[in-house]
Amino acid sequence: MSRIAAREGAVNLAQGFPDFAAPEAMKRAAGAAIDADVNQYAVTWGAPRLRRAVAERTSTYNQVATDPDLHVTVTCGATEAMIAAMLAVVNPGDEVIIFEPFYENYGPDCTLSGAVPRFVRLRGKDWEMDRDEVRAAFGPKTKAILINTPHNPTGKVFGRDELEFLAELCREHDVLAITDEIYEYILFDGTEHLSIGSLPEMAERTITISGLSKTWSATGWRIGWCIAPKHLTEAIRKVHDFLTVGAPAPLQEAAADALAFKPEYFDGLRATYEKRRDILLPALRETGFRVHAPKGAYYIMAGIEDLRAAGQTDTDFAMALAAKGGVATVPGSSFFHDPKDGVDIIRFCFAKKFETLDAAARILRARLGA
Ligand code: PLP
Repeated sequence: MSRIAAREGAVNLAQGFPDFAAPEAMKRAAGAAIDADVNQYAVTWGAPRLRRAVAERTSTYNQVATDPDLHVTVTCGATEAMIAAMLAVVNPGDEVIIFEPFYENYGPDCTLSGAVPRFVRLRGKDWEMDRDEVRAAFGPKTKAILINTPHNPTGKVFGRDELEFLAELCREHDVLAITDEIYEYILFDGTEHLSIGSLPEMAERTITISGLSKTWSATGWRIGWCIAPKHLTEAIRKVHDFLTVGAPAPLQEAAADALAFKPEYFDGLRATYEKRRDILLPALRETGFRVHAPKGAYYIMAGIEDLRAAGQTDTDFAMALAAKGGVATVPGSSFFHDPKDGVDIIRFCFAKKFETLDAAARILRARLGA
């Protein structure tokens, strides 16, 4: 859709990346690291300064006690962390439970690692899970459950009660939790983030993934990390070594500085994202989309039931909306294993400058407004 946006001259609210600058101090630190000739391979599993910074943040913010030498692997983004974790722990034929709709990469991650995905639907305006369905998905072949909170594409933030329920099932069935928390600092309306790895007896069976891309607005730097118990970290580091050797060395140094930013940085991030959300939401409501305010991450799932012409799919609708200087979005079918299930949805990304969001709102009102 980003390519289509460029072709059509559309405002791009499709792919999940910011169109605004990354933090100045972090950019300066990267320049300084390059000037200081930090230009060769870092330690394969991560530069010591960055591992210490990740361990410090994970131990305090996420409440998962983390040792930089035993538990941290720095990767090329959360994307590599996820596939390295899956390749390290999944044997072909093992089942992995995935909540649906899901971030597109989890499907190919299963294919590459030989995992058999078991999809469990999130439903309703709060994207709730049906506990009986979740319980039924756990069986003798289940190796792991994949959790993503705050959740792309829905903006759901898993609550304590839900995570305690999932943790109980993981302990009962001896299943691993692989949790993608890349949006952990982007939260709205006072919602709090909770890591399943912080719950009793879960650190030993949880792989927690995060990275620089979203919180520090640097998706192109390709810096991520995963936290896992020692025996899993040993396996993940081996896979990581042969996938990529390591993440960019000078950018790891800058990332170490960025992780040490003061609380005001994270407060400011949350507040400005809430403002961005609150520019797009009313424009979508007024123009006939069915929307609910997301609690976290930077997407809005918009129902197109009342806008879609008979016979038009979500992809047709998204193409028409992007055409000739329109607004580019992602068709809902991208987030379901059966594309039919996403036919009434498109996803908007609001990680954009205020003026980009204002421009998108103007176009929506002009095209779809009453
Ligand atoms: N995980 C989720 C849920 C995402 O939405 C994204 C990007 O959109 C990623 C991971 C990718 O993260 P990274 O840039 O660190 O590879």
